[in-house]
Amino acid sequence: MFDHIECFYRPGTLREALLLLRKLGKRGAIVAGATDIVTRADRSPRFFIDVTHLGLDFVRKNRRGCAIGAATTMMALEKSPITCRLAGGILAKAAATCGSIQNRNMATLGGNLANASPAADTAAVLLALDAQLVVDGSRRKRKIPLAEFYIGPHQTVLNGELIKEIVIPALPGGGRWGWSFQKLGRTETDIALVNAAAGLQADSRGRIKWARIALGAVGPMPLRARAAEKLLIGNALSEELLARAGEVAMGEVSPINDGRASANYRREMSAVLVRRALRECACHAGIPILD
Ligand SMILES: Cc1cc2nc3c(=O)[nH]c(=O)nc-3n(C[C@H](O)[C@H](O)[C@H](O)COP(=O)(O)OP(=O)(O)OC[C@H]3O[C@@H](n4cnc5c(N)ncnc54)[C@H](O)[C@@H]3O)c2cc1C
Repeated sequence: MFDHIECFYRPGTLREALLLLRKLGKRGAIVAGATDIVTRADRSPRFFIDVTHLGLDFVRKNRRGCAIGAATTMMALEKSPITCRLAGGILAKAAATCGSIQNRNMATLGGNLANASPAADTAAVLLALDAQLVVDGSRRKRKIPLAEFYIGPHQTVLNGELIKEIVIPALPGGGRWGWSFQKLGRTETDIALVNAAAGLQADSRGRIKWARIALGAVGPMPLRARAAEKLLIGNALSEELLARAGEVAMGEVSPINDGRASANYRREMSAVLVRRALRECACHAGIPILD
């Protein structure tokens, strides 16, 4: 499987990892849990740089939000009291669906994002949470909004850089909040046919002040359903509005046919998952849904 690899580097500091990245250039590939990289057909990298010994496995909360190290595993996210409480626990819930226990013990958050699969379960959630990635290269350090990170299927803006941490900003205060993560897969541990994450904030009269809807596996990259979000703002929830938001979201996706599902099925299920997610948000926030 790795017979094309000449050397496996295990740096113990970030500085060492960055120097290796620079020295090896395109011949070197970052590896974390290796659960995606093992399935790759691309055998061009000759060297692996392991990023699991750089102290990047942490979940921290402060007044400005939450910071998660890129090498934090799905299992750690599932168990962390911080992620279990953050935004209704949707990140912990999404992490808990990323394959089997064995997979989740190895799979990292940084790997899930950097792999840039359109179906990555944590990506939809982190889009809904306005997450940013702290990225380090040997020459520069930068912060990239997740919404600007993907440029195509399995393609990101990373250029000889590694993801250090994922920052989730604190949410605006006040009002009533509700969150939801929904996933449709062929089995419990399969990757998503469609996934959706949503967040709603309502004022004291039940009118929507803030909305986020993100979808995965229904386009070349995880996406925000911005037109559907806009439709909700300033309105009280009703069955009609939920149905309309689902329809509008369906118009924002561009799925493909593959071995798992047809494009049409994925499109229709986008509307279903968006309605389900909004209903769950409303239920958690105590926002009434008018008939
Ligand atoms: C059986 C099975 C089931 C799965 N089920 C799911 C599922 O249900 N949902 C889901 O979303 N995924 C699923 N996956 C995919 C995979 O487990 C996740 O995407 C995982 O989080 C990848 O993390 P990793 O640490 O294993 O990444 P790796 O395989 O180590 O790396 C993946 C990519 O990310 C890059 N990379 C890793 N870390 C960094 C970093 N810090 N900075 C920059 N680049 C980095 C690597 O160079 C590589 O290109 C499944 C995989 C398997 C094998």
